[in-house]
Amino acid sequence: MAKQEVAFFWFRRDLRLEDNVGLYQSLQSQYPVIPLFIFDETILERLPNNDPRVGFIHESLSKINTQLKESGSSLLIKKGKPQEVWTNLLEEYTIREVIWNKDYEPSAIQRDAAVAEILQSKAIKVLATKDQVIFEEAEIVKADGLPYTVYTPFKNKWLEKYQSIAPVQELDASPYFSNFFKSEFDFLSLEQIGFIASPIKVKPHNLKLIANYHETRDFPALDSTSYLSPHLRFGTVSIRKLVNWAVRKNPVFLSELIWREFFMQILFHFPKVKNKNFKSAYDGIQWRNDEADFQRWCEGKTGYPMVDAGMRQLNETGYMHNRVRMVVASFLCKHLLIEWQWGEAYFAEKLLDYEMAANVGNWQWAAGTGCDAAPYFRVFNPDIQLKKFDEKGIYIRQWIKEFDLGYGQPMVEHAMARDRAIATYKAGILK
Ligand code: FAD
Repeated sequence: MAKQEVAFFWFRRDLRLEDNVGLYQSLQSQYPVIPLFIFDETILERLPNNDPRVGFIHESLSKINTQLKESGSSLLIKKGKPQEVWTNLLEEYTIREVIWNKDYEPSAIQRDAAVAEILQSKAIKVLATKDQVIFEEAEIVKADGLPYTVYTPFKNKWLEKYQSIAPVQELDASPYFSNFFKSEFDFLSLEQIGFIASPIKVKPHNLKLIANYHETRDFPALDSTSYLSPHLRFGTVSIRKLVNWAVRKNPVFLSELIWREFFMQILFHFPKVKNKNFKSAYDGIQWRNDEADFQRWCEGKTGYPMVDAGMRQLNETGYMHNRVRMVVASFLCKHLLIEWQWGEAYFAEKLLDYEMAANVGNWQWAAGTGCDAAPYFRVFNPDIQLKKFDEKGIYIRQWIKEFDLGYGQPMVEHAMARDRAIATYKAGILK
């Protein structure tokens, strides 16, 4: 019997049916559309079996599957290496078209090119769409066509371009849901994928407090930021919907969403930043890279309450407030003289919202090695940061239970560490 001709939509970091560009496009196909998700073994094998992000992906897929069932369809879940999965799918189906939303991380670009090659060698139409950002790749560049490496002019151009298309069109694919392939695929459980649930969960996002965001966002105890980051990372919210809303609500909040795109285009144009200094003049810095110091930082046992509270929040919840992320990152690079890649890797392991572009971009900002970074001689004083942003100690008491019983000595004295950092940077920066 001839195999049925189908199209595929491949979900990756866009885990929603609402306002999903690639999904919308695929449903315009003349062929029924099979929605697919692949648990990529190359990624999974590096994770502990209770990684909370895998649990969140699984929950989000389950919601999608429930919605699909209302249209007599279901989600096809596979586990394996993407190229092998696609090679096997070619045996099972007569695939005519495959659509996915673009992912701009270097390894994703390579993966997609390899899969596209397999599919195109069988004359299958492949389409990669923009969904994750408002502006991608070279859409926001300088007059000479080169990418921006400074945030403010990038932001100004971004805003100007946004105004010319505002509001960005949001797409409702629900009228086309009848074009999903009718199926009852088995929905793999978390255990079948080789994982178990974690007590650490992604919180729902919260947009109630955004009107005062510009006044409250820097105070961790107020807990007034949006908690959108894991949702943006895995695409459980649409960036178009969010930006159209944020433009009306709060310009400072909007500018944070533009930082997200700034770092994404930096990673796209300068993929070396994933593990190398953006400014290569900083390659000569003599880091101390002391393993025991690093361990104390990871465990939140530096003796600086703001640093320790942040690291404990991260270890317990998979989240850390942005102001505190800046303080702990500066402390690692400058007070301890440990290269940013160590901290970046630790955050990548723990953060629910880990996203390469934002993580690398912000770490390099803190280390002073990035584009538009904090100058090397700016060394945050963790105690002054505490006084400014958690004066009553509410945040630190939440994470350091023993705080009132008397807190340990700082592992390194601030004035000495500051002078040492400045001297080491000065000596290491290549002329
Ligand atoms: P809100 O303040 O409500 O901001 C809304 C959204 O704007 C965020 O969800 C995020 O998408 C974006 N955003 C805000 N601040 C930044 C920023 N500085 N850079 C880029 N985007 C931003 N963010 C990540 O999403 N993933 C990471 O891996 C990550 N690593 C970081 C590492 C360091 C050292 C630092 C200093 C910051 C890092 N950030 C990262 C940025 C920021 O801390 C988080 O996006 C933010 O704390 C998430 O909480 P929220 O959603 O409540 O933020």
